[in-house]
Amino acid sequence: MTQKLTDHSRLCLHTITTKPWSLQQCIDGYNRAGIPAITVWRQALEPQGLAASAKMLKGSSLRVTSLCRGGFFPAATADGRAKALDDNRKAIEEAHAIGAPLIVLVCGAVPGIALPEARKMIADGIAAVLPEAQAAGVKLAIEPLHPMYANDRSAVNTIRQANDLVQEIGSRQVGVAVDVYHLWWDDTLEQEIRRCGKAGSLMAFHVCDWLTPTREFLNDRGLMGEGCINISQIRGWVEAAGFAGDVEVEIFSTELWQTDQTQFVERIKQAYLNHV
Ligand code: ZN
Repeated sequence: MTQKLTDHSRLCLHTITTKPWSLQQCIDGYNRAGIPAITVWRQALEPQGLAASAKMLKGSSLRVTSLCRGGFFPAATADGRAKALDDNRKAIEEAHAIGAPLIVLVCGAVPGIALPEARKMIADGIAAVLPEAQAAGVKLAIEPLHPMYANDRSAVNTIRQANDLVQEIGSRQVGVAVDVYHLWWDDTLEQEIRRCGKAGSLMAFHVCDWLTPTREFLNDRGLMGEGCINISQIRGWVEAAGFAGDVEVEIFSTELWQTDQTQFVERIKQAYLNHV
């Protein structure tokens, strides 16, 4: 049995979880709720721009856990792949500016490009932007995505593939983000988390829950405890592998976005203590 979490000192909210809120509303709302950390989705930077966003975040007491997201490296044309690299360089600049030590990579996939070829483009893409990431002091975490996204969002679908990729790249700057939503079903999960631990490459831990039925691929994730994922057991594995960082709540849910977000944040805090 994993020991229960007794306070919110490691709780981080992704701004996408409270999508109806602007960045400033997220900062204020998380502060009011006593949540110490924030992960920023890049779209939350757009309305007020990077400089103003950085000022808001640096003026707040929130710890910035990561920037979501870079990646989407595969493309059918050389021009498309070059554009993807530019966008990742921009993400590195943004992470540096807002004080995020980490960028989460949704690696990308394109219908019509075979998965092995897409994975090669991903490895090449990460290697290409690695010098900029190093210079900015920003780490890159490969987030394997559930296989239901293999055709259009990520060709990296298991933690083993992510670990292999990290090993192939061979830089301490690149590691793995474990998201329970994407990985809970994998019978090698515990073993591969241990492998991450040995390599020192476990960089992020994301939680939400898997609803049955899942009515829609993207925006029907559950609050922790509403679904079937063995979240606290997975947290135990992650911690046994040496991870002591923030536990990031990342819930894409059209249904929950329609509720009162202040009350929703309180529900998250409760679910965090009861089910993470
Ligand atoms: Zn995630």
